Amino acid sequence: MKIMDRLRALDRACIDTLFPENLECLCCRKPSFGHPLCEECAEILEDCRITGPVCPVCGHPLRADAACAFCKGDGLAARSAYRHAETARLLVHTLKFDGVSAAADVFAEGMTAAVEALGPFDAVTWVTMPEKRKRVRGIDHGRLLAEGVARRLGVPCLCLLSRNERNWKATQLGMNAEERRKHLEQAFLCPQPVHGRILLADDVMTTGSTARACAAALLQAGAASVTVVTATQAAEHETSINP
Ligand SMILES: [Zn+2]
Ligand SMILES: [Zn+2]
Repeated sequence: MKIMDRLRALDRACIDTLFPENLECLCCRKPSFGHPLCEECAEILEDCRITGPVCPVCGHPLRADAACAFCKGDGLAARSAYRHAETARLLVHTLKFDGVSAAADVFAEGMTAAVEALGPFDAVTWVTMPEKRKRVRGIDHGRLLAEGVARRLGVPCLCLLSRNERNWKATQLGMNAEERRKHLEQAFLCPQPVHGRILLADDVMTTGSTARACAAALLQAGAASVTVVTATQAAEHETSINP
C-alpha cells in the first residue's frame, strides 16, 4: 500500500470513529446511517449466505440427497458463511485491500453463526499471510476475522501459525498436484506446541489446500482437532457438486 493510500485508510478510520452517522456503505459508498452496509447491500449479502443442505463434513452446499464430491466425506471439517459472490465478494476485497475492520466484523458475525454448531473450540487462529504481503498491506486480514470470531465465541485468539518463507516459491507453475501439495505442506509451521480444539479462520475457501496445510501443521504441533471457518466459499468449489 502506498503511503498516501495508508493515510487515506487511516483518515477514513478516524472519521468513521468520530462521526459514525456519516458512515458510508463498505460496498457501494452510499450513506449507511451508522451501519457498515446500506440496507440494499445488507439484503444482497443476506442472499449470499449459505443456507440449506451442506455437506456435514466440509460445509459444501449440496443439492438435495447428493453426496459431496468435494471431500467424499473424509475432508477437513469446515464451514463458510457466504457464497463468494456479489456483496460478499466486494466485502472480501474491501477487507483484503483496505484492511477495513468493519468488513471483518460483518463477516465474523456470519462465520460464527456458520460454525458455532461444530464447537466448542478452545482457541481461534488464522491463516497467516506471507511477511512481504503483510508489509505491503500493513494488516493481516485473517487476524481481523479470527479476532472477530474469537470475541463472539468467548475464546482466545492465538497466533499459532507462521510462514516457512525460506523454501517458499511464489510460483508453483510446473509442479504437479502431488508436488504442489508437498510444497504447500511445508509452507506453514507451528513454532509452539498447540493444545485443544482449534478453529482456523480464513477469508475465502477455494480448493481448501491452504487450509489443509495449516491444519496438518496444527495437528502435528498437538492440536486435538482443527475446524476451518471462512467468510466465503468460491465458485470453483460449487462446480464439484455431484448432480
Ligand atoms: Zn451499499
Ligand atoms: Zn464435503
